Amino acid sequence: MHLFAVLKHCVINFYDDSAYDESMPLSSFVPAFASRCADDEARCYAFVGDELLLDDNRGLPRASVLIEQLGPPELDYLVGHRAGQPCRLLFWPQTTQAPAGWVNHNLRAIYGHMDEADFWIATRAKQMATWDREHRFCGVCGTRTEVAEREPARACPACGHRHYPRVSPAIMVLIRDGDRLLLARSPHFKPGMYSALAGFVEAGESCEDTIHREVMEEVGLRVKNLQWFDSQSWPFPHSLMLAFNADYDGGQIVCQPEEIEDAQWFTLDKLPDLPMGASIARHLIEATIKRMRADAAIDQ
Ligand SMILES: [Zn+2]
Repeated sequence: MHLFAVLKHCVINFYDDSAYDESMPLSSFVPAFASRCADDEARCYAFVGDELLLDDNRGLPRASVLIEQLGPPELDYLVGHRAGQPCRLLFWPQTTQAPAGWVNHNLRAIYGHMDEADFWIATRAKQMATWDREHRFCGVCGTRTEVAEREPARACPACGHRHYPRVSPAIMVLIRDGDRLLLARSPHFKPGMYSALAGFVEAGESCEDTIHREVMEEVGLRVKNLQWFDSQSWPFPHSLMLAFNADYDGGQIVCQPEEIEDAQWFTLDKLPDLPMGASIARHLIEATIKRMRADAAIDQ
């Protein structure tokens, strides 16, 4: 599949575990790329370092207004079209001060507090900024790279190597044992929050290999009956989350030192705090809880 088609597929499927749905907020978004976008009517996703710049009402800025106040941006790329309207990434370095009337927002924290489709388009814009900043020099020969005009690639003028946006696949797996779920917390989670297990796919592994390895490494358990759930692009910094359900198949919980602070079996009446609503982890856990409740109702 062509890169744009892959990205489009990922972006469109941010929301739902079902097939493409015309009613979804992002169904009108089509990824695209150009190394310049001077269109002042474009929807503008402006970043100062890792933070999204919005107006007092959490609305998108107008490019010409920002450029007048902040000076020329380091990046000014077309990243796609929403309902035919160009979507423009503007980027300024972290040290840039937000002018009066504008507020820098942590992208994770702003979810649920701005237009949802714009939030997800902003996550694509952020990944494009990350790709650009991380590939300014050729990894093969060290020469400064140049951005291509019409595809998201930074090309090396010396050796010709092309550097595309990096996408890092990671699995997520929620393990069920009858009427209880295995949830775990890593030391960097906020206090009290537990989630499904997750880990990056290693070179040479299938997703299924990764699941069996990660579950054994992180909590010392065996699993079976792997079932696909859904995927989600996650821009912190460039993950593609691939989520599964699995059934417990044996073993005692042994937490991997430094990776897993605690892991426990939870029944539905005593669940801990769960991850944020935007994350696929939350969708996976909620969908599984719904199914467990339905199973319990049938059993009664
Ligand atoms: Zn090179």
